[in-house]
Amino acid sequence: MKTIVWFRNDLRLHDHPALKEASECGEVLPVFILPEHTSPTAADWWLYESLNRLHQQLVKLGSTLTILKGPPSKALAALTEKTHADAIFFNGQVDPDSRREEIALLALNSLAKVNVRRCAPNMLLDPSCLKTGAGEPYKVFGAFWKSLQQQTIPWPLAAPTSLTSWIDDCPESIPLEHSGLRASIDWDASLEEAWTPGETASFEQWAQFRDMGLNRYDTKRDFPALNGTSRLSGFLASGNMSIRALWHAVRRAQEEGIAPQPEPFLRQLAWREFSYYQLFHFPDITKRPLRQEFLHFPWLNDPDELTAWKKGKTGYPLVDAGMRELWETGTIHNRVRMVVASFLIKHLLIDWRIGAEWFRETLVDYDVANNTLGWQWVAGSGFDAAPYFRIFNPTTQSRKFDEKGTYIRKWVPELAALPDAALHEPYRASEDVLTDAGVVLGDTYPVPIVDHSAARSRALDAYAQIKGKK
Ligand code: FAD
Repeated sequence: MKTIVWFRNDLRLHDHPALKEASECGEVLPVFILPEHTSPTAADWWLYESLNRLHQQLVKLGSTLTILKGPPSKALAALTEKTHADAIFFNGQVDPDSRREEIALLALNSLAKVNVRRCAPNMLLDPSCLKTGAGEPYKVFGAFWKSLQQQTIPWPLAAPTSLTSWIDDCPESIPLEHSGLRASIDWDASLEEAWTPGETASFEQWAQFRDMGLNRYDTKRDFPALNGTSRLSGFLASGNMSIRALWHAVRRAQEEGIAPQPEPFLRQLAWREFSYYQLFHFPDITKRPLRQEFLHFPWLNDPDELTAWKKGKTGYPLVDAGMRELWETGTIHNRVRMVVASFLIKHLLIDWRIGAEWFRETLVDYDVANNTLGWQWVAGSGFDAAPYFRIFNPTTQSRKFDEKGTYIRKWVPELAALPDAALHEPYRASEDVLTDAGVVLGDTYPVPIVDHSAARSRALDAYAQIKGKK
């Protein structure tokens, strides 16, 4: 059989159901269809690098990667006709845009008499198989996690060792340099310094985390200055790494005694699964709050305050450190993601969807499911979210999770010379302390754009307006 394998956010060779199945059925033509958006994002940089590496891996197996422009169903139908392919195989995705593409493509089954097959997405389990006793999708993470732990996670599939194709070179293939995935500004350089995308790098990152971090994950994961988390999110979001392979690798590390108690880490993988699961069952959550009352929330959406937040110039050091880390490296530590998101939503009363859009543009690990659910969780508008009235105090969070100020000093160097006691709240420091550290509030570092107590009361008033509304 001659099969086109449509690569999507599954840019790897291991545990790739569509590639595996196609390679066992005969000849394979690997294809990627470029996304149709205008300005390149940080995740597009990751995509570019991943495509480059995937192409090199395919060449080693005797194949190559054909790159086309969309829409996918049209591009794949034309390619099928031109190359006389018998089949198109791909791995499913759960977000609404991708599912629309899949439906359009599956229609070719009958129209063009080509065998179109959807294989398993990059999830631990098929999202339609876990249900409550009443047959409903789970809305609460605890119950979902309990049920997930009782399931058998499928074993990952091995990568093919060689590939053959009936097409040597596809003349329509777009050279990667002309893909439009690279930003014209000099932004890539700092991302390149922070990350090496691709399947091989994902294995190396996992091995490093397994040996150095997995065992102490539970105690270190909340402190942004420590290298306490896996840093695997970019690999998982792009599909450089299979989540099933990671799950079983963690279990193996447990059996080998490297990490006797990996549950806290597996639990975070389950949060990813829960996000994908919720997006599958409630596809409009990227645009709408899960809790209806939040449709009436009185957002202020002040553009100047939004700019201050994006640039890391709010006057709250932990918030500013996080937003600058995001711009420089395309990521933010999870604890600080929660703090900056809470600050935008609750201190500034800016709609979470505006924050989610900024994260879409700037995160290398941007993942529509995790990002949407992360923002809805912080906003309090998700099903199993932090209650709205629990408002993070950025200064308390800063003292608790960056006590010595190592993280803040790295990302907000203009405050570096302040003593620890003043670092978390420079606006409360005496003139002498500020002068000694070379800090001039309103000049070298901003005064806070909102007062915490006043902002807190304003947020609670706003919430009182929507409580109980339908
Ligand atoms: P680790 O702590 O090592 O966790 C391992 C893996 O588990 C992660 O790579 C990720 O795949 C998953 N995971 C961990 N925490 C969560 C969580 N809270 N929700 C869902 N999955 C989780 N994650 C993304 O991958 N992409 C996003 O676009 C994204 N946006 C977010 C937006 C907000 C407002 C918030 C609060 C969280 C968001 N997260 C997102 C979740 C989380 O912050 C990142 O997955 C994590 O910081 C990545 O670092 P790590 O790989 O070192 O995580």
